[in-house]
Amino acid sequence: MKIILNNKDLIKKINQIKDLGFVPTMGAIHEGHISLIKKSIKSCNKTLVSIFINPKQFNKKNDYKKYPKNISQDLSILKRFNIDFVFIPKKRDIYNYKRSKIIRLNKKDQILCAKHRKGHFEGVLEVMDRLTNLIIPKKIFMGKKDFQQFILVKKYIKNKYNINVIGCPTIRDKNKVALSSRNFLLKKKELFIASQIIKDLFNFKKKFKKSKKINSLLKLKKIDLEDRYKIKVEYLENREINSFKKTNNFNQSKIFIAYYLNKVRLIDNL
Ligand code: AMP
Repeated sequence: MKIILNNKDLIKKINQIKDLGFVPTMGAIHEGHISLIKKSIKSCNKTLVSIFINPKQFNKKNDYKKYPKNISQDLSILKRFNIDFVFIPKKRDIYNYKRSKIIRLNKKDQILCAKHRKGHFEGVLEVMDRLTNLIIPKKIFMGKKDFQQFILVKKYIKNKYNINVIGCPTIRDKNKVALSSRNFLLKKKELFIASQIIKDLFNFKKKFKKSKKINSLLKLKKIDLEDRYKIKVEYLENREINSFKKTNNFNQSKIFIAYYLNKVRLIDNL
């Protein structure tokens, strides 16, 4: 596993590689990241994992400051897998030129996390654009845990580079909590509450699988969750997976949730 710390070294090491799989991360590596890495290793000749906490995608300074980081632990985990390259750039490596065109989201995409975290996806698209432009991979692997991000990046990268972004299933712990770097910020008691919430939602989906008024039921469910678990739910909506339009049945749809547990913001979809 070669560790690459700047652009010059990156270009030197990867410019001859045709079939390169790319797994972008912000570190605090967990089994969710590993599942993407395994998929890349299986379907590409070489695999590159990046670790870069992208300041542009944080709409709150404190959230950026508090984001979990532990490079030495990440590297010791990553060493156990057959990864060819780990790219750990500095901010100056990524933001080393001025864009000629500012990235803006379409009006219809300004929903869910885009509505509540102003500038977040513009920051995600910008870093994915810059990383893709540097690496020019054959395929990019991303998690459906961040489903809205996956769809937006897939569309942008396909359009600009004709590179495929492959969506991988959400990995959960034994209590059904979706793995996330932010879980490292939770206390044991809070992780337990997170598991109660997601189990509650899986039961909701099962109970109302034939219903045709899901979104009105979710409005009540939002109040119930806030009351029962003493949390702040930012959104709880059922949307079609292709059009992202709100829908009142479970045909080709997902429930999307974002909530604050203490001060930690968690998202999931099911
Ligand atoms: P992050 O380090 O949080 O930016 O995540 C890097 C990549 O890992 C993104 O494509 C995420 O969607 C993906 N990812 C994060 N958590 C999970 C999970 N529990 N299951 C599958 N993929 C995940």
